[in-house]
Amino acid sequence: MRISEIFHSLQGEGVLIGTPTVFVRTCGCNLECVWCDTKYAREEQGTEMSPSEVVEKVKGYEIPYVCLTGGEPMLQKDMFELVELLLKNSLHVTMETNGSMSLEELPCSDGLLISMDIKCPSSGMSERMMMENLELLSPADQLKFIIADEEDILFAEKVLKEHEVLCPVIMTPVGGIDLRQLAERVLKKRLNVRVLPQLQKIIWGERRGV
Ligand code: SF4
Repeated sequence: MRISEIFHSLQGEGVLIGTPTVFVRTCGCNLECVWCDTKYAREEQGTEMSPSEVVEKVKGYEIPYVCLTGGEPMLQKDMFELVELLLKNSLHVTMETNGSMSLEELPCSDGLLISMDIKCPSSGMSERMMMENLELLSPADQLKFIIADEEDILFAEKVLKEHEVLCPVIMTPVGGIDLRQLAERVLKKRLNVRVLPQLQKIIWGERRGV
């Protein structure tokens, strides 16, 4: 598998926000979101590593939480093997995925949190979403929307009306920091979602490897 970087930091997004976590960032992505903030991982070749090499490196940090991110991690052909190996080593795994890849083959496990995005119109990628994935999310997973404008929020509202979503739903503003406008919209519309920042942007700025 092609690895862009492995580092530890605080989880910056979602229900585990603030939790010390080892991040495994893979190379390559099948989407081109307008506001992508990990373009380097999409474009670089990275380092070729086997799943067991990745697990050994992750274990070296002695932190029980791992986040597989990208790019799009599900593009790596041995990603399922890596997930199984991490779970076997009693690590809690968050699998971040962009909503365009089928989740069907991911194992069901208490130790696995699927963190799925639905890309809104401002990303330019909303047509690429596999909405059937929404039925596969359990209460232990999470669904994330990055919101840029009113069109995005109307889109997210429609998705949530048309699909039964069992897991926590998180909305984050593009850029990850300026929460006020989104918070006001969510409160006004009485949406049952959580508004969260991208903590990494607040603490470290754009990119952080520790
Ligand atoms: S899915 Fe993620 S990595 Fe891929 S283009 Fe969109 S924001 Fe960037």
